[in-house]
Amino acid sequence: MQRPCNMLKDLVKPVIPRSAATRYSSASRAFCGMNLSSLSRLSLFVCAAILYLTFANAASAQGGAAAAAVTVIRAGTLIDGTSDAPRKNQLIFVRGDRIEKVTDGSVGIPSGIKVIDLSNATVLPGLIDSHTHIFLWGEDPHKGGYDANILNAGIALRAARATYAVRRALEQGFVALRDLETEGAGYGDIEIKQAIEEGTIPGPRIFGATRAISTTGGYNLEGYAPELVMPKGAQIVDGPVEARKAAREQLDHGADWIKVYMTHRSWVDKEGKLVSQPTLTVEELKAIVDETHGWGKKVACHAYNGIGLQRALDGGCDSIEHGLEMTDAQIAQMKSQGTWYCPTLSPYYDDWGDPNTPGGKRDRARAAVHEITFKKALAAHLKIVFGTDMGGIPWTEPIAQEFKRMVGLGMPPMDAIQSATSRAADMLEMKGEIGVVAPGAYAEVIAVAGDPLKNIDELEHVGFVMHNGSIFKNELTK
Ligand SMILES: [Zn+2]
Repeated sequence: MQRPCNMLKDLVKPVIPRSAATRYSSASRAFCGMNLSSLSRLSLFVCAAILYLTFANAASAQGGAAAAAVTVIRAGTLIDGTSDAPRKNQLIFVRGDRIEKVTDGSVGIPSGIKVIDLSNATVLPGLIDSHTHIFLWGEDPHKGGYDANILNAGIALRAARATYAVRRALEQGFVALRDLETEGAGYGDIEIKQAIEEGTIPGPRIFGATRAISTTGGYNLEGYAPELVMPKGAQIVDGPVEARKAAREQLDHGADWIKVYMTHRSWVDKEGKLVSQPTLTVEELKAIVDETHGWGKKVACHAYNGIGLQRALDGGCDSIEHGLEMTDAQIAQMKSQGTWYCPTLSPYYDDWGDPNTPGGKRDRARAAVHEITFKKALAAHLKIVFGTDMGGIPWTEPIAQEFKRMVGLGMPPMDAIQSATSRAADMLEMKGEIGVVAPGAYAEVIAVAGDPLKNIDELEHVGFVMHNGSIFKNELTK
C-alpha cells in the first residue's frame, strides 16, 4: 500500500514549483518515515496540513511572479525591428524577462513604477550577429595567423578568450550570436552557452554549431610535413556515411546548427577570375542536410563561389555563408529554395596582401565580386542576415562595423537593422521572441544616443543594454 503522503505527493507534484517541492519533500519525508499503522490518522492530518502550506506557498510564489516589478522604458524614438518606420515617444513595459506591452508615450504610468528615461535616445531590439567564432582570436599573420589559435593556445586559454568574446558582444548590444564553429575547440561553444544560461558568466544567447564539417584536404591546419598528423579546425569526413555520422555526433552533443565547408582554398586563375576548391559532394551534403533536418535543425554552408556553391544549393543548405560570387541562376535558386544569405562583408575589406602577390590578387578579386553579388542579392530581395565573422576579425574591434559595409553597398539602414534583428530571429526560429520590441518578446532592448537611420555608425556606440529584462549596461541615463 502506498503511504498517504506519497499518494498526496503524487497528486500535487505537477503543480508545485521546484523550490516549494523541495521544501515539501524534505519536511514530509521526515514525517512520513514514521510507522503508519500507529499514526495513520495523525499522519493524514499532518500531511494535509503540509499540503495546505505547500499550496499556500506555491500560490504566493505564483502571485509574486504575477506581481513581478514592472519597469518602463521611455523611448524618444523606437525602431521596433519589424516596422518600416520608427515611432516617436513610446513606452515599453517590461515585466520579468518579457515585454508586456508597448504604448504611446501619452499613456499614464502608475506611480511607484521604475522608469528608464531614454527620451533623448533611439531604442531598438537587441542585435543578432548570425556569423561569429567566439573561440577564434584573430588570424593576423604577424601573430601566427589562424594556426596559432590551435597550436599555441590550450583549451583553458581559449575558453577564457571565448568568455571575453561573449561579454564584448553583450556590451555592444548583441544579445544573440549564431556561432558557426569553434575552430578546433570541440564542443566549447555549447559549454560557454551553458555557463551563460546558468548565470556563471554574462553573454548573449548562443546558437552553436560546434565543430563544423569538411573533407580531407578541405580545412586547416595544413601545409605541414606530410608525416605529421595535424589537428584540424573542423571535423573531417569522406563519404555520405561519415558525413551523416559526424552530423549525428555534433547534434548529439548539442549543436543548434550544423556548419559545413563547401569550398576551401581560393585563388585567381589566368583570366583573373576567382576560383574556389569544392569540398563535399552533393551526396555527402545531402546526408548531412537530411540528418540535420530530421532533428529539426538547419545547415549553414560556407561557400565562396563556383562548383562548391552550386553543390551547397543542390544539397539543400539553409544558409549560404559569405557567398562571394553568385550567378543570377544561383540567386534565383536561393530565392526559390528560401535560402538565407549571410554575406559577412567586413573581413574581405581589410588586411589585403601585396597587390603583386597571388594572395593580394585573390584578396582584391574576392572583394570585387562580393560587392557585385551583394547588390544583386539586394535587388533580388534575398533573405539577407547580418553576420561579421568576428573571431576572424579580432574581438576587440566593433561588431557593428558590418552595418556600414552593408549600407555603403546600397542597403537601406532600416533593412540593415532588420537583417540584425527580426530577420535573423526568423532564421533562428525565434520569430517574435527576439529581434523585436513587441508584446510577448524577451526584453532584449538596446539604445543609442543618436539616429542610426541617419548615421548607421551610431550602432557602434550602444549605450544601453537590457538583456532578458535586466539592465546589463547603461551609460545613457543617470
Ligand atoms: Zn566564419
